Amino acid sequence: MKNEYETYEQISVVVPCYNEESALPYFYTEIREAADRLSAAYKLCFEILFVDDGSKDHTLELLRSYAGKDGRIHYISFSRNFGKEAAIYAGFQHSKGDYVVLMDADLQHPPAMLEEMYLALKGKEYDIAAAKRISREGEPPIRSFFARRFYRLINKLSEAEFVDGASDFRMLSRRAADALLKMGEYNRFSKGIFGWLGFRTKWLPYKNVERVAGETKWSFGKLFKYSLEGITAFSTAPLAIAAVMGVVLCLVALFLALYVIMMFVIGDRANGWTLLICVIILVSGIQLLCTGVLAQYLAKTYWEVKKRPIYIVGETNEDIDVG
Ligand code: UDP
Ligand code: MG
Repeated sequence: MKNEYETYEQISVVVPCYNEESALPYFYTEIREAADRLSAAYKLCFEILFVDDGSKDHTLELLRSYAGKDGRIHYISFSRNFGKEAAIYAGFQHSKGDYVVLMDADLQHPPAMLEEMYLALKGKEYDIAAAKRISREGEPPIRSFFARRFYRLINKLSEAEFVDGASDFRMLSRRAADALLKMGEYNRFSKGIFGWLGFRTKWLPYKNVERVAGETKWSFGKLFKYSLEGITAFSTAPLAIAAVMGVVLCLVALFLALYVIMMFVIGDRANGWTLLICVIILVSGIQLLCTGVLAQYLAKTYWEVKKRPIYIVGETNEDIDVG
């Protein structure tokens, strides 16, 4: 006879945490409540996988104690801070569920939405159910402005689809999660990775909420750098800059030559010195810019060919090879 539990579906909740000691107790309570509620309502069981991304506060101590109290809780702790993208990868790698959901530890991703996500995927019509912010309310206007420009630009430059307002809060079917794991690149830009994956996605609207405690790890400067990384990781269009500028400069030079010849014919011997200096500075500036763009791609290739691991595990209660 078939065991009753064999018909249960499992949801793995992956939670990257970096210095989240103040937010974690709230998250822990809420996620367990949500898991209990869903388990009671549907034939479901849960696995909650915290990934401590080398926190310097008491995050790891908290995780150890939670794991001791609740058998559904597992944790992996990195040997140092490897970044949220690496934490996501580690979480997905160790998840065993039929569905994998990614959530922030600061309760900006409401656990109440898990049910809606599960129901969307359950029918097998969709492989991904993702939360999408309906407005950028509460965000500094300058940040919204640059965010919009960024999305417009990257969608023009890249084949992957980048959806403005799409959050990392999403549930993936096992099929989609396995596909994501096949993307083993070192430079992990998750917004691009999700977009590149494809799969039928159900977008669930949600309103942005403040983090429950602690501080965001994103400054404007960090976000700007992150957006440049996204462009170089998912588009090679900037590499064409050199070629385009070369053509433009040739045309400029041609017109200048015509101008000088014309002046000569008219008999106006203007001093070409200033003009010459301007042209030299312009051209060398453009050359440096193009070399810089090239260097960005070279650097990315450099990190990829090293084939370093995406993260190193320092401690875990999971049954995995730590070495
Ligand atoms: N996070 C992480 N590693 C990092 C930075 C952040 O694992 O290096 C986690 C963090 O603990 C949180 C999530 O990623 O659970 C989102 O971070 P945060 O709230 O700072 O970003 P925001 O919501 O402001 O975009
Ligand atoms: Mg947050």
